[in-house]
Amino acid sequence: MKLDVNVLRYLSKDDFRVLTAVEMGMRNHEIVPAELIDRIASLRHGGTYKVLKNLLKHKLLHHDSSKYDGFRLTYLGYDFLAIKTLVNRGVFSSVGRQIGVGKESDIFEVANEDGTVMAMKLHRLGRTSFRAVKSKRDYLKHRSSFSWLYLSRLAALKEFAFMKALQEHGFPVPNAIDCNRHCVIMSLVQGYPLILYWTFILEHADLNQHFYNDQNLIKRNVIMAMGPGEEKEKEMHPLLPTPLPLMSISSPSNPLQVKQLQSTDIVFEKIIGIIVRLAEHGLIHCDFNEFNIMIDDDEKITIIDFPQMVSVSHRNAEMYFDRDVECIIKFFSKRFNLSFEGNADDSDSDADAESDAVKPRFSSIKKASGFLDKELSASGFSRKEQEDIEKFNEGGLKKIPGSDDEEIEEDEEDTSSTINESDIQNFDSLCSLTKDDDEPKACSKSGEVEEDQQ
Ligand code: ADP
Ligand code: MG
Repeated sequence: MKLDVNVLRYLSKDDFRVLTAVEMGMRNHEIVPAELIDRIASLRHGGTYKVLKNLLKHKLLHHDSSKYDGFRLTYLGYDFLAIKTLVNRGVFSSVGRQIGVGKESDIFEVANEDGTVMAMKLHRLGRTSFRAVKSKRDYLKHRSSFSWLYLSRLAALKEFAFMKALQEHGFPVPNAIDCNRHCVIMSLVQGYPLILYWTFILEHADLNQHFYNDQNLIKRNVIMAMGPGEEKEKEMHPLLPTPLPLMSISSPSNPLQVKQLQSTDIVFEKIIGIIVRLAEHGLIHCDFNEFNIMIDDDEKITIIDFPQMVSVSHRNAEMYFDRDVECIIKFFSKRFNLSFEGNADDSDSDADAESDAVKPRFSSIKKASGFLDKELSASGFSRKEQEDIEKFNEGGLKKIPGSDDEEIEEDEEDTSSTINESDIQNFDSLCSLTKDDDEPKACSKSGEVEEDQQ
């Protein structure tokens, strides 16, 4: 899906009012009846219907008349509400190029008035795993207001809360700047995912352009360059639109080259050290792999991607912990030929200590408990919300590739209005967040921020 922020310029106050009304309606309806939208937005002279058409044209809404005439927000519609709110708060003023595609997120560069560039992560839960969730619906059955909006918002809130707390505890994570709806704003990491350190990079200078501009070409080249038996598209996916660092382009005499770390074992130790220190703080990352570890030219590590983190008191904590450790060991031994032999089975105590440093045992770590609960509740995250996102994460382990958001099927639902009158009365103050000045500027394809032409 393309995020065309130019559309933002053409949206009026009424457009945002109606978009916000649909969002409110989605608290109780996956498809919000048109009359309800009209009632919440209360524009004069039937104005709501005209606006709905306009929003539909810009793909900010999805129309569904299978059971009744109704609408729901698309990801794009939800993006615009979040972006508009953050722009009005002065967090950023322009949106730039896309710098990452995660399993369930899109990452863009954004910049503020001072020209500081930051990263914007838009969570897209349901993009790949909605069907998996649907098959595991038992836990969601009783949620009248369940929707992907809710889950994406929870993922963003959790990620933001964790990034902030981890930073305060001295972990190398991006600086958490702000959060709204499903959108997290954080500092831009000046490195590249560790995965790039073993991917073969094509040498040709001209291709450099394509690396930046044509995602398909990157995909083809990288997969081709990985060689037979290694064509794991699934594994490659998060890497694709990440701009490749120029320094990785090898010399013309050597068409393919693997980028090497300067001090592989120090980097390895640092990474394992972070897993252990997280556990000491009561946490397990749960997706600790070469895609979520960023590394810069000085081999400084930054950890990203926190929505799936769990507490060390989770019933599967040890399994998650071991999986994170194994993943790193496997990556380093396979890609950097780091040898771990002879460490694991030695029985004397020195060898034990050494082997613990390579492959730490969950049982021998002095773990703090309560970190998760404390930090999350401090950020306004309720226990119920924690449980919901955790259940989603567990259901989401079985991803079904190829499904997209337009294939989301709707639940049987109650079409009567269950929104409180007080919600509707408060609607004006909600909409004042979306005043239509301060619109974001567009960015050129090359990523440079263009001056507002207006
Ligand atoms: P997902 O949860 O969908 O896997 P991630 O948070 O891992 O999303 O982000 C996907 C990709 O986007 C990363 O692999 C990385 O290349 C890029 N990225 C994410 N956050 C940042 C950041 N703060 N700075 C620079 N690049 C980032
Ligand atoms: Mg990731």
